[in-house]
Parts: sequence; C-alpha cells; structure tokens
Amino acid sequence: MNSDFLLSTETARNLYHDYAAGMPIIDYHCHLDPKEIYEDRRFENITQVWLGGDHYKWRLMRSAGVAERFITGDASDREKFQKWAETLSLAIGNPLYHWSHLELRNYFGYDGVLNGDTAEMVWNLCNEKLKALSARKLIMDSNVQVICTTDDPADSLEWHKKIAEDKSFSVQVLPSFRPDKALGIEKADYPDYLNRLGEITSYAQLLDVLKTRLTFFVSLGCRVSDHGLDAVPFAPATDEEVEAIFQKRLGGALPTALEAKQFKTALLLALGREYHRLGVVMQLHFGVIRDNSKRVFKALGPDAGVDSIGDAVSITDLAAFLNALDETDALPKTILYSLNPNDNAAIVSVMGAFQTGEAVSKVQHGSAWWFNDHKRGMIDQLTNLAAGGYLAGFVGMLTDSRSFLSYARHEYFRRILCDLIGTWVENGEYPNDDAALRAIVEGVCYTNARRYFKL
Ligand SMILES: [Zn+2]
Repeated sequence: MNSDFLLSTETARNLYHDYAAGMPIIDYHCHLDPKEIYEDRRFENITQVWLGGDHYKWRLMRSAGVAERFITGDASDREKFQKWAETLSLAIGNPLYHWSHLELRNYFGYDGVLNGDTAEMVWNLCNEKLKALSARKLIMDSNVQVICTTDDPADSLEWHKKIAEDKSFSVQVLPSFRPDKALGIEKADYPDYLNRLGEITSYAQLLDVLKTRLTFFVSLGCRVSDHGLDAVPFAPATDEEVEAIFQKRLGGALPTALEAKQFKTALLLALGREYHRLGVVMQLHFGVIRDNSKRVFKALGPDAGVDSIGDAVSITDLAAFLNALDETDALPKTILYSLNPNDNAAIVSVMGAFQTGEAVSKVQHGSAWWFNDHKRGMIDQLTNLAAGGYLAGFVGMLTDSRSFLSYARHEYFRRILCDLIGTWVENGEYPNDDAALRAIVEGVCYTNARRYFKL
C-alpha cells in the first residue's frame, strides 16, 4: 500500500494527490462518545482501540474459527491481538485488511504487513506510540473539522456543551437527534423510555416534548437527525387513531403490527415537518435485521456482530412517505441509506422525483453503509448515483464508527472515488477538464457537505 494505493491511472493519482487528499473531513454521522472527546481519552494498548467494541472485527475472527474467548472473552489483550493479527493476515479482499493497514500506516508509522509473525513487533510499536496519542490528537491529526455524534433526545448534551466551551479544541462536535427509542412503541421497555423524557400522558404531549428537545439540540448546533428503521413506514392514520394507539400502549398492551406502523408513520412525518421547519437534515437508515443469533445476543447484548442485511424494503412505502411531506412543502433535506444494495437503483430513482431548487441534491443517497462499506460497495453506490442522479452534488463519506482511528476510511473512500472518476476520464467518457474535475472531487470530499449541512 504505497502512496498510489488503489489509484490505477495517472488522472486518478493527480485528482487524489492534488485535490482529494488535502481536503478536511466533515464526519456528519458517527458514534463517537462526546465524553471521551471532552476527556481526551487515552488508550493503554492497541487491542483496546481496535477490538474493544468493533463488531466488524469480531465477526471476521469468528469466521476464521477463532474461539470467543479470544474475541470478547477473558483472554489477555496480547492474546486477542495475536488472534486478530493471524485472522487479518489472510483476509484478502476484506475492507478490514485495507482499513487496518491504513490505520497502522497513518497513526503508527508502520507500513509493513500485520500477521502472526509481526504481531509482537506491531504490538510493541503501537503501544509505544499510543502513549503520545489521545482522542483529540487523533481527531486533529486526521484534519477533521466537524463531528456529528449520535444522541438520544433525552440526553443532556452536557459533554457537547463542555467541548464547545473549551477554546483549546477547535473541532466542532455537534449533537445529532436520534429518537429511535421514542418511535419504538412495540418494544417491551417503551414505558421506561417515556419516563426518561418526563411524565408523558398523551401522544400530543410526546410530540411536544420531542419538539422541545429538538429545539434544544438545534441550539447546540445540531444540523442532522437520524433514524434507524427496519423499513420506511407508510400507514396513514388520523390523529385520533394515533392517540388511541398510544393510549393503548400506556395502558400496558402491545400494539398490533399495523398499529405500530401507523404510530411510526405519524411520528416520523411530524418530526420530518419539524426538521424542515428548523433546517435539520433527516437521515433514514433502513434494511437491517438485528441480533440474528439469539445465542450471541443473550451473551453479549446488541451490536455484537450478529446483524445482517435485511430484505429489500418497500419502495412504494418510501415514495409515499416522502410524498406525504413533499405534498405539503414540508420535506426536509433527506439522506436515504438502505443496507440492502439491491435497493440502490430504486432509491436513486425515487430521489429524483423529489429534487427541487431548494438545495443541491436535496434528497441524497447515503454513502455505502456497513456491510457495503468496501471497495465494491462504494463503486456500486457511486456508479449508481452518477448514472441515476447527480454525483457532483453528493455529500460523500462518513465513518459511522465508534473508533477514533477510523478516519482512514475517508482516505479509502477518496482513493476509490478518484480512481473511478480517473477511469471514466481516461476512457474518454468525460473530458480531462481540470477545473470541473477539481470541483467534483473537492465537492464530494468536503465542500458539498459543508454547504448541505450549513456548517
Ligand atoms: Zn450509525
């Protein structure tokens, strides 16, 4: 992996080195902990950083037949690192191979390979370098300008306030509004969650509380919301029907599947209108099946590496949902992410129906997400967006990560973007017009996100 890694043509190399590489990073969707940023967390060893909560790595190790003891169990950090090194060394074609080696190169100055034989040396090298690294230093060294974390409406946002007041740290760390739990009416612990928001006795009141919380988030710089959904719901109901469903739930009865869908449709539409009013971007993540292995879920809880791509979602519902907002001039800027890549072409075609002069690419197809966050997935997403929409307006990459090292994924994305564009240029499909190519590359890497999120 030399400096021209993934850059197969001269045009690609020029675009990457001249324009893409130097662009700052706007990480508009991630799961970093603002407390760890404020407290400038340090790490004792590379296993803590790499394997502490990274379910991508866990599932790869399981696939390589590593015993759970060396993944999430009581083996020592050094033993876990050994198993990880042995696993990674043969993981040809997996993005973890590329990400991990980019991280080793960028943050630890190691440009060799990691395998069972080099593990001891890499372990010592990384742990020595980690003494001088911290959350903030990793963020600063990665040329990050903005981080949007993922936060529950009930969150006090105390750490965001403290970071904003700390003049020694210039990176903007903004909250994102993620009210998944407020929508989860079918969940057994829904009443407990409502208690966290206050004393809620009606749907109308729930909506008022959420609007107040959203306004508070916006006062602390929130520019974007996020929803994790099985599918985008569309089952219209009257206000009275929605209130009756909510009252039934408060009374202790679980809703039917249709009632849950009606409730979610109503609440999501109401929030969508509020996002539009306040200029907050709406992200919709869907197409996931969570916790497939109940055995692992019982042992380790959620986010343990046993989720998967779900069925292709109802494009009919998605289109009707977007229309319900658009029809009343209340569709916010929206980013759509399906975990099922079979949805990509349909999503891009639906998006095209709702674009307006209100913003460049008002409705976006989000970057290749989770199980698609690899070379082929990125090329598919970019090619599909270019063919069915407007690649030049794309807001580009995000990390969606819990790790302070994962900014290397932006480099990975930028190399793939430049290689794709370079290939088109060298094939004669687009002119070698330096100013235009620069605008496209810098736009997708940075300036589009800056404009879209009003940063
Ligand atoms: Zn996420």
